Order: sequence, then C-alpha cells, then structure tokens
Amino acid sequence: MPIHHIAVSNKYARNQRSKRQRIVWGQCLFSCLLFLLFLPSPVFSYDSSASDFKKYMSALEKQISRYGWTDIKPGAIAWEYYRTTENKNPLIFTTFGNSRGNCVLFLGGVHGDELPTVYLMFKLANYVKDNPALFKDKCIVIAPLVNPDGFLAASPTRVNASGVDINRNFSTKDWQTSAIRQWIIKGKKNKRYYPGAKPSSEQETQFQISLIKRFKPQKILSAHSPLNFFDYDGPSSDLNSFEQWMEQICKETNHPLKKIGYYPGSLGNYAGHERNIFTLTLELPSSDPRRGSEYFQKFQPSILKFINLPVVGSPPHVKIVNNEK
Ligand SMILES: [Zn+2]
Repeated sequence: MPIHHIAVSNKYARNQRSKRQRIVWGQCLFSCLLFLLFLPSPVFSYDSSASDFKKYMSALEKQISRYGWTDIKPGAIAWEYYRTTENKNPLIFTTFGNSRGNCVLFLGGVHGDELPTVYLMFKLANYVKDNPALFKDKCIVIAPLVNPDGFLAASPTRVNASGVDINRNFSTKDWQTSAIRQWIIKGKKNKRYYPGAKPSSEQETQFQISLIKRFKPQKILSAHSPLNFFDYDGPSSDLNSFEQWMEQICKETNHPLKKIGYYPGSLGNYAGHERNIFTLTLELPSSDPRRGSEYFQKFQPSILKFINLPVVGSPPHVKIVNNEK
C-alpha cells in the first residue's frame, strides 16, 4: 500500500476512534445525568423550594402555639424526609452523631391524638442538639411525629388519614393470620384500632421500617399516652437483664412497669419480638397537651439513661453490657 494511503487510513482510523470515544463519553454523561435526576435527595428545613415542607412547618407551628408549646423550635432542627403521607405531610426525622453504629431511635406521635408525646420528642430533639456530648460516641435518631395527618386533623385522631392504626400495621409474621381476626373478635371492629387492609400498607409504617433498616438501632423508645406505664419487648435471651434495668428506672421515675405483650402488627412485635431490638414503650399518664413540659422533666433522666444504656452487637444479636462491678 502506498505510504500516503497508509497515512490517510491511519488518520481515518484515528478520527473514527475519537468519534467513538466522543459517543461513549456522551452516553456516559447522559446516564450520569439520568442517575442524578432520580437519586433520592434529602430535603432540609432550609430548602426553600420544598413547598410541602414549608406548608407542613407552618401547620405545625400553628398547632404548637395552639397547645402553648413555646419552648420547642421545629425550625431550629435540620430535618430530613423522603416520604409524605396521604395528606402530603412530610415524614420527618433528624440524626445526631455517627450513624454507623450504636444507634437509638425515638418515635413520637404514632397515634395522632397522643399530644404530649409529640411535645416530648420535639423537646428531646432540641435538647440533644444543645448537648452534643450526648451523641459523641453514638447515634441518636428522632422521628418526633410519625402520624402528622392524625395530629394536624381539626380534631386529632389516633389513626392516620386512611383510618389505619399505625401500631397494628407492621408486617409481623402473625399479621395475615391474626391482625384482622383479632380486630373483629377482640376489638369488636373499633375503628381506632383498624390494622389496615394489608400489612405495611401505610406510608407511616413504611417510614418506621425504613428507619429501622437504615440505622439498625439497638434500642427504640416509642412514646404513647395515656396508659401510664412502661412496657418493653426485646431479645428473649436478654430480657432478664433488661427487666432488672427497667425495674430500677421505674423506681426512680415512680412509673409502673407493665408487661402487656404485643399485638399483630405492633412495633413491639416487629422490632422487639421478631428483630431482637430493645423496644421500650413509654405510656405517659395523660394525653393533655398542657402537661408536655411536666412529662419531659419527669422522664428526661430515664430517657438519658436509656440513651446511655450500654448495649453491644447489632440486631438480632444485641446484648446489654453487664457493667456491674
Ligand atoms: Zn398510642
């Protein structure tokens, strides 16, 4: 082949190669843009474009001032959310500390008419934020209002906007066989306890499940009212040491311990019984919103002790560290 022909065909090959490279780069860029477009991005309270969030915060502020809760500042916390409810209210949570281990999860307002539980958890978020020593070597996740639709209703409701009791909707192993049956037979179809048409059918339930999956908490505290006791579920191999610890806490707070067991679709069943996570239910003595501050003072020491209770392992292999000398 004449030399100039080789030169021309080399040049042609080079051109073709660079054309191919341009196409590959173009395809790469296109895929990257597509990927970024569909990546779930957290929305923070300072993101002015999140209109659902802004609307939610202002509805929340209104309700908070109606109850006279002047010392909790939802706007001062960096919230994250990925889901919204039936009424388009964001399901918010906040994280303090290193989320890679040793996590404790706090839940409030699972039942929308249990008003002081919402105060308690917003107040706790403010308190933890102001006391960084608390999360120096651990992670604290707080979801202060799991059922905002129930809480923000003109007359607050236990159930969510679809009429489902979030604490009967978890996808526990006994849900299919027992949830609806128990609701009909034992619950006499009381609408306040309706477990839903399917397990985990509700955004509020999926929200709690996703927090458990993401943070793998060793301990969970869920606040309820007005039954006035502590209840717990957890690793059956270590319930004795947890019970001993609980008995001490009950003495100190003068708040009784009652083992009521768990229901099909309840958090105690899903997290405590089935996943071996120490799950503590704090039932406040009343649902009176004016007593929120009083309850925070009363239970703050035991909440801090719960945060500091030394536990090792990740679910389902968690164990209380016996630090008695
Ligand atoms: Zn409740």
